[in-house]
Amino acid sequence: MCGIVGYIGRNEAVPVLLDGLRRLEYRGYDSAGIATLGNGRIDVRKKTGRIANLAELIAQSPIAGHAGISHTRWATHGGISDENAHPHSDRSGRLFLCHNGVIENYASLREQLVREGHEFQGQTDTEVLTHLVGKHYDEAGGAPGSARLVTALREALRHVVGTYGIILMHADAPDVIVGARRGSPLVIGIGKGENFFASDVSAVVAHTQQAVYLKDFDIAVLGADDFEITSLLGGASGYEVTKVEFSADDVSKGDFPHYMLKEIFEQPETIRDATRGRLSHEEATAKLGGLGMTPEELRNIDRIILTGCGTAAHAAMCGEYIIEALAHIPVEVEFASEFRYRQLPLPKNTLVFCISQSGETADTLAALRESRRKGLRTLGICNNVASTIARESDGGCYMHAGPEIGVAATKSFTSQVTILTLIALLLGRMRHLSTTEGMRIIGEIEALPDKVRRILEQTDHIRRIAEKYAKSQAMMFLGRQFNYPVAMEGALKMKEISYIHASGHPSAELKHGIIALITPELPTVVIAPEDSVFEKNLSNIEEVRARKGPIIAIGTEGHEEALRRVADDLITIPACPDYLSPILTSIPLQLLAYHTAVALGCDVDKPRNLAKSVTVE
Ligand code: GLU
Repeated sequence: MCGIVGYIGRNEAVPVLLDGLRRLEYRGYDSAGIATLGNGRIDVRKKTGRIANLAELIAQSPIAGHAGISHTRWATHGGISDENAHPHSDRSGRLFLCHNGVIENYASLREQLVREGHEFQGQTDTEVLTHLVGKHYDEAGGAPGSARLVTALREALRHVVGTYGIILMHADAPDVIVGARRGSPLVIGIGKGENFFASDVSAVVAHTQQAVYLKDFDIAVLGADDFEITSLLGGASGYEVTKVEFSADDVSKGDFPHYMLKEIFEQPETIRDATRGRLSHEEATAKLGGLGMTPEELRNIDRIILTGCGTAAHAAMCGEYIIEALAHIPVEVEFASEFRYRQLPLPKNTLVFCISQSGETADTLAALRESRRKGLRTLGICNNVASTIARESDGGCYMHAGPEIGVAATKSFTSQVTILTLIALLLGRMRHLSTTEGMRIIGEIEALPDKVRRILEQTDHIRRIAEKYAKSQAMMFLGRQFNYPVAMEGALKMKEISYIHASGHPSAELKHGIIALITPELPTVVIAPEDSVFEKNLSNIEEVRARKGPIIAIGTEGHEEALRRVADDLITIPACPDYLSPILTSIPLQLLAYHTAVALGCDVDKPRNLAKSVTVE
């Protein structure tokens, strides 16, 4: 959450920063701001709302300079207002700072600063941090300039409890911009005669594909032609220059009206990419070298914990069913936000998978660190290469799904479930699955992309269904067994982007309470592919129908007759084994949520109150 972009170089900073902020807008859109440094002074413009508002303000009242810092905010502390927008300034008005994260002890720091005579414009934790750095700058000895700024920053950060990715600049140090991180992501983009800071490399990939991912406690000083990274803990800090895998085109919408729709339509390729080079026909198994585990270590696993948040938690729940079915290993799913606060018994042969598209989700990162503290082997399933979770885990599996910009996760869900299926196949083949069974599973996995294409062809049909029900106050999603987590995910998509209240339940739970909600005004989406629980699902549909609840059914092609009789509307998926059905059934639900949100005129890619890459706890 929160997008940060910094620039120093030969060009004007404002166009670079505005373009970078637009690319990071998915990370927060409560307010935005830019500060530029030119002619020995810093000018700032900030505005509540989208980047477009800020761009308009700058067009009316331009600022200039060859260095600048900028921010798009997802508020954690302090309301959404112009004065709470970043960059914040210290009391001298010569130091400006942007921040992603939370300063947990900001209240006591603020009290202390107020006692010392500081006055604050707003209520954010960030403004407190800015004043703190400014105070140490004013108190530090030595000549004004970058060395004194870094000393002040180091001193201030020593008093801070919490998380931060920050960038700052001082009018006394016009040749540098400075960044530091602890817990929130920060990347350096290395250009020619120019350098960048960004919370996500997609902000600067139009200018450079050379990146350095900063580590916790790194402090980086960027000039136009060089940079230096030291550690808050003392001394120089080692770093690696990474070549970014994607280009600026990959982060554009192409011909699609929204990123979300583009990403839904990318799924035939992204599912293929999640399996590329990972299926061995010869050995009838999956090959996952990135896990970094020997066959013996994998055979010794007797329990698996899958942890994540939001959509990743739903993918984990699918993984639980799939791994238990194919590999017969007990699996437990934990919301990452709960994991470290539970008193979980963790026997030593427990393997923990941390699932996060961004690889920066603060709750999931905390779960990873807690697992490591307990001595468990911890693996990541991430999309962003070199993200913090990917770097801090013992090994893992990248999704290779390309950037996901739509705030509501779509392609990352199907990639995560695909990877969990590969893990299930690998572990199953080491235990009881025969070569023939392994080959059959591989064949089915390889057939998925074409089946997904066939579902995507129904988008107009799904749009008409969405338009029919878009005015509903609420919706219910039901599914059983492998598709119970899909019901939860379908409901989440609907809530996230259309703001229609929705809930997902195991179909059979209906009669244990929630059936009280059924009325002719409440549409129920039932995920009922042809599987071992199809007949049971059918009975649950009858229970809804008996109470005149409208039914949208997701069924299997060639097996739709029974559903046609009971459902008001039907969407079909091609036939597949039970354990693969979540990858297919989730796609019509993504489209249903998408078209509903469009019909209601909602801002699909930037839903209310949400932001992607949740880097705060
Ligand atoms: N805590 C800061 C604020 O509320 C930054 C929030 C964030 O990182 O999303 O302004």
